[in-house]
Amino acid sequence: MTAYEALAAHIAEYNDLLCILNTLRWDMRAMMPAGGARSRGKQLSTLSKLAKSIFVSDATARLLDAVEAEIAGADCDSYQARALRQTRDAYEIQKRIPAELVARMAALGAESEAVWAKARAENDFPSFKPFLKGMLALNIELAEAIGYDDHPFDALILQFEPGMTAARLHQIFAELRASISPLLARIVAVDEPLAIDLWKAEYDLAAQKRLCHKLTELIGFDYDRGRLDSAPHPFAISFTRDDVRITTRYDANYLPMSLFAALHEAGHGLYEQNIARELTRTALTADFLGQYAIGGASVGAHEFSSRLWENQIGRSHAFWERHFARLQAAFPQQLAEADAELLYRAVNRVRPSLIRVEADEVTYNLHIMLRTEIEMALLEGAIAVDDLPEVWNAKMQEYLGLTPPDDRRGVLQDVHWSFGGFGVFPTYTIGNIMAAQVLAAAHAQLPDLVASLANGDYQALLYWLSENIYRHGRAYSPDELLKRVSGEGLNPAPLLNYLERKYSDLYGLS
Ligand code: ZN
Repeated sequence: MTAYEALAAHIAEYNDLLCILNTLRWDMRAMMPAGGARSRGKQLSTLSKLAKSIFVSDATARLLDAVEAEIAGADCDSYQARALRQTRDAYEIQKRIPAELVARMAALGAESEAVWAKARAENDFPSFKPFLKGMLALNIELAEAIGYDDHPFDALILQFEPGMTAARLHQIFAELRASISPLLARIVAVDEPLAIDLWKAEYDLAAQKRLCHKLTELIGFDYDRGRLDSAPHPFAISFTRDDVRITTRYDANYLPMSLFAALHEAGHGLYEQNIARELTRTALTADFLGQYAIGGASVGAHEFSSRLWENQIGRSHAFWERHFARLQAAFPQQLAEADAELLYRAVNRVRPSLIRVEADEVTYNLHIMLRTEIEMALLEGAIAVDDLPEVWNAKMQEYLGLTPPDDRRGVLQDVHWSFGGFGVFPTYTIGNIMAAQVLAAAHAQLPDLVASLANGDYQALLYWLSENIYRHGRAYSPDELLKRVSGEGLNPAPLLNYLERKYSDLYGLS
C-alpha cells in the first residue's frame, strides 16, 4: 500500500463519521420528537469528539508527512494533490484551536441559543446581552487561535469562505450599495403593481407537497438518491452523493413559502448529487475545519447553487410561463383569476422589510451588509454589545428606510450570533453574486439555453453546472471555479446587471 492509499483509507473513515453525524443531524431536525433533544445533543458531542480525535492525531500527521514526501514533484493540480493540500491546511488550523475552547463555545452556545429563543419571543434584548458578550469574547479568542494578518473577521470567515477577507467584503459591499440603493429608491417610488392578493386563500398542504416534489424533480433532483421531508427550518444535507435529503416547510396561507424553500434546498441537493463519484469518502467531499460532510467549494459556493435554482430559475418569467398551468391545476379555485404574469409579479414583489428571511432579491443583500458590518465593528471593539439595538436600528434606517418597532423584529431576529456563528452572513451574498456570474457564463457558452429553459428543459443547464462546478466537489476555491467558467473571480457586476434588468422591466422603470 502506498502512503497515499494509507492516508486515503484514514480519511475515508473520518469522512464516514462525518456522514454519520449528518444522519443524526437530519433526524434531529426533520424527524426527532422534542424529547430527544438532550440525549441527541450528547450523542452528537460524543461522535464529534471521536471524529476530531481521529483527524487531529499523530496518525494523520505521520501519513501527511509520508504522502508529501511520496508525491513531491507530482502534478500539483490533480484531485489527489488538492485533497492533500486541503487536508494539510485543515490539520494545521485545527491543531491551533484548543479543544477546551471548542468545548466552551459548544457549552455556552447551547445555553445562549436557548436564552436567545426566549429573549426573542419576549422582546427582551437585555436578558440576551451577557450571553452575546460571552459568545463575542469566545469568537475573538477563536480568531486569535486561528490567526490573521489584518482583521479578526478574516480568521472567522476562513472557516466558511477561504480567500475572503474583511477588506474585500468592504469593497464588494460598496459596489453593491452604489447600485442597489438607487434601484430600490426607484422601485419604491412606483405604485404597487399588484391588483389582487393571491395569498389570502387557503392552499391545501398535501397538494403543496405534491407540487414541491414535482417541481424539484423537474429541475433534476434525483429521488432515487434523495428525499423531500418537512422541517420547521428548511435545510439540505447529504450522507454521500447517493443519499441527499432536502426539506421544506408549509404554510396554508402562503404558498410561496414551500415552493421556493423546496427549490432552494433542491439547489443545494443538486450540487451534492452531482459531485464526481470518485470523490466519495475523500477530503474533497468534507469540510475538515467545520467537521461537516459537505461537497461544495465553500458555504457561499453552495449557496450559489441554491440561489441560482430558487431565484434566477425559480423566480424567472420563463419558469412561470411554463409551470403556471400546473400550479393552477393544483389550486383551481384559489388561482381562478390569476395568470402566469400575475404570479410572476407576486413572487417578485420588492418592498423594504424588517425581516431578512422574508426579503426579496433586491433588498436581501442590504440585510447581509448590515449584519456583516456590525460583526466586524464588534470584533474591532468599535461598537459595544450594549449599543447594538441603536446601531441596528440606525443602519436599518440608513439602508432600508425603516426603523424596527421592537428588538424582536430588529437585532434579535437571527439565530446565528446566539450560538457564536460569526462570519457566516456574507456567504449568502457571495452565493447571490456567484449565481449571477455562473448563469451569465452558462448563457454565454450555451446559445440554446434560453430556448431550453422556456421549454421547461433543465437538463442542459444541470449538465453544464455539473461538468463545470458540481463534479469538482471541494477541489477548487470559489474564485478558481469562477475563473474557469467566466475568466474572472468574484465580481458583483453580473448580479447588479441582472437586478437592474429584471426589476426595471417588472416595475416599468425608465
Ligand atoms: Zn441555502
